[in-house]
Amino acid sequence: MSALDIGGTWAAVVPAAGSSRRMGFDKLLARIHGVPVLTQTLWSLRGAGLTRLVVGVRDVSRIRAEALVPYGLNDVIVVAGGDTRAETVAVCLSHLPEEATHVVVHDGARPYCSWEVMRRVMAAAWETGAASAALPAVDTVHRARATDDCIAETVDRRAIRLAQTPQAFQVALLRRAHRECPPGSDDAGMVAALGISVRLVEGGRENVKLTVPSDMPSAGDMAPPPFAVGLGHDVHRLVPGRPLILGGVKIPFERGLMGHSDADALSHAVADAVLGAAGLGDIGQHFPPDDPAYTGANSLVLLARCRQMAVAAGWRPVQADCIVIAEEPRLSPHVDPIRATLSGVLCVQPHRVNVKCGTNEGLGHLGRGEGVAAHAVVLAVRARVDRPNG
Ligand code: MG
Repeated sequence: MSALDIGGTWAAVVPAAGSSRRMGFDKLLARIHGVPVLTQTLWSLRGAGLTRLVVGVRDVSRIRAEALVPYGLNDVIVVAGGDTRAETVAVCLSHLPEEATHVVVHDGARPYCSWEVMRRVMAAAWETGAASAALPAVDTVHRARATDDCIAETVDRRAIRLAQTPQAFQVALLRRAHRECPPGSDDAGMVAALGISVRLVEGGRENVKLTVPSDMPSAGDMAPPPFAVGLGHDVHRLVPGRPLILGGVKIPFERGLMGHSDADALSHAVADAVLGAAGLGDIGQHFPPDDPAYTGANSLVLLARCRQMAVAAGWRPVQADCIVIAEEPRLSPHVDPIRATLSGVLCVQPHRVNVKCGTNEGLGHLGRGEGVAAHAVVLAVRARVDRPNG
């Protein structure tokens, strides 16, 4: 059974209006791998098939600008939360889409909840009406005397469950709990106070609520991933009366590639891979084939400009691997000059540009020698400063 197979119409409420007092900084906007904690929490709900999301926060416009819009979460309903968790959940409940029959409540500061835990809680609430993720206590549990903080009693820990979120409920049930029960620190407890059974299902140890600074990952893990890859593909027709240029190298042959520029399919594939790594689209967008400015253009210049754009966007190419597919001519004698030329334009050492040649085994248009195709992948590293590399 998948989360989407569970019956009912589901929404999720995310209380995220806390003060982060114990953290000392705004934990919801703290970035792990470059992405705000709250964004990752919302992604985990999306990943479990929940699309109707309502978030209660302190600063609506800041959360929208920093944690939602840049991450494609524009359709999340954001409302100003209350002073307490219970108030924030109550406000969010009043903004639930009308069609919702069931609701998941999940802390904004729990970004690591697995799909399995989310699914278990939802399935149990679908069956029983109310469920919560919880963990058994692994440590011995004492009740302390309020007067002197000494042990009053050692509790049988086998009966202890430590509540987590997600918690899930029939919408009507949770609304009733918020109307009729004194506000609690936990929705499951409020529903239980109505005298209704709340099913406790196995939570996850990884599903921590980020509360104190030591809960945050190390500084290295907070940074965005420093690598990006791009993929490029190009194909051009072989025609008489044109020079054959691949990777900027003129190759003696009785036919050449047809195109608006010099039709260097390999340089085009590498340029597309460079743009791909930087998330900048493709060369057709930046150098339109119907623009007379690029008639007969030297594709190495286009490649150099694509590299420049990628670096300006923060991505410096460091490696390329390419395949050229041509039935003829034989390209292997030209591989070293091609590597030298492309590496010069990419500003990497020649051994960082690999070029492989192959045929199409006589199959299709490439196999009939009607054209030449090229594929490339480029690895780029995050770098604001353009400096040479090995
Ligand atoms: Mg092309």
